[in-house]
Amino acid sequence: PELRRLCVHESIGNAIPREGFVSAFDNFPIPIELVSDDETYDEGDAVASFEPRPEFLDAGWVHVIRAGYDAFDTNAYETARTPLTNSTGIHGTTVGEIAVGYMLSLARMLHIYRDRQNDDDWYEPEYSRPFTVEDERLCVIGLGTLGQGISERANALGMDVVGVRRSGKSIPGVSEVYHPDDLHDAIADARFVAVAVPHTPSTEGMISTAEFEAMGDDAYLVNVARGPIVDEDALIDALDSGTIAGAGLDVFETEPLPEESPLWDFEEVIISPHRGSATNRYHLDIAELVAENVHRYQDGESLKNRVV
Ligand code: NAD
Repeated sequence: PELRRLCVHESIGNAIPREGFVSAFDNFPIPIELVSDDETYDEGDAVASFEPRPEFLDAGWVHVIRAGYDAFDTNAYETARTPLTNSTGIHGTTVGEIAVGYMLSLARMLHIYRDRQNDDDWYEPEYSRPFTVEDERLCVIGLGTLGQGISERANALGMDVVGVRRSGKSIPGVSEVYHPDDLHDAIADARFVAVAVPHTPSTEGMISTAEFEAMGDDAYLVNVARGPIVDEDALIDALDSGTIAGAGLDVFETEPLPEESPLWDFEEVIISPHRGSATNRYHLDIAELVAENVHRYQDGESLKNRVV
């Protein structure tokens, strides 16, 4: 059946401006409605949402405006035979830039200078502390959209990029690709380890005590993927004991990161509030993807980024 309307669920407001998103669709073939939790759906409805709702299963097709769809019950979508799509493919630049931003800051100490600036402190660090990222090794775990966005930018800075990928196959710009079974070899000589895999049963807790021990004590963790991929208690222990040097973190086991979390207090930890993909154009990138899929749906073509 044809789609008769696009329902934009109000939860998109978690990530993008609601009205801005709705008005980003030019010459759109079907009506667009901003809907709340009272709405009901049928197979003529497409839904775009940030959060899951059980009633979306009645729609003709559901689009998650995020890349990570771990909050959605994929089994239920399979059973209901409701297609589910996500927004992977559009975060390479935005999340790539924030990951590189952490690395440059951690290497050149911008975060420390800014902290000291708050106290009008002309702070001169120990000579041995700052370093350039050039020629340093970065290990990127997961070489999809985020992983490639990070590795391309790291390459431009002259870093030596290695990666971890289930197929083990090489890709341009990554000097060595390791299988996930060889994760410890992959991270052993890396100055930076960047996590860029989805949160799944096989990636949950993938970075824990043994991995921090495999990393060098001058190494930094970058997590821009999902909090539960990293064992947060193990990370706090590793930072406390100096097993690793620091971290750049956009995602956490619990979000917002609770006030009492020790992560807030490490000088060598940079925290951003899950804003890796946040820019003033984010709604336009998502709208473009949704519009393309609406056209595909109406033309009977296969949907882009289909996860179920
Ligand atoms: P993607 O599908 O393009 O890439 C994910 C890659 O990880 C794929 O190549 C996949 O094969 C690989 N992978 C999966 N399991 C693996 C494993 N066990 N070992 C090695 N590789 C594995 O998705 P993406 O757009 O790059 O996003 C990745 C994840 O990052 C999302 O699922 C989401 O949770 C998160 N994300 C966070 C933000 C943010 O704002 N911080 C933004 C976008 C995405």
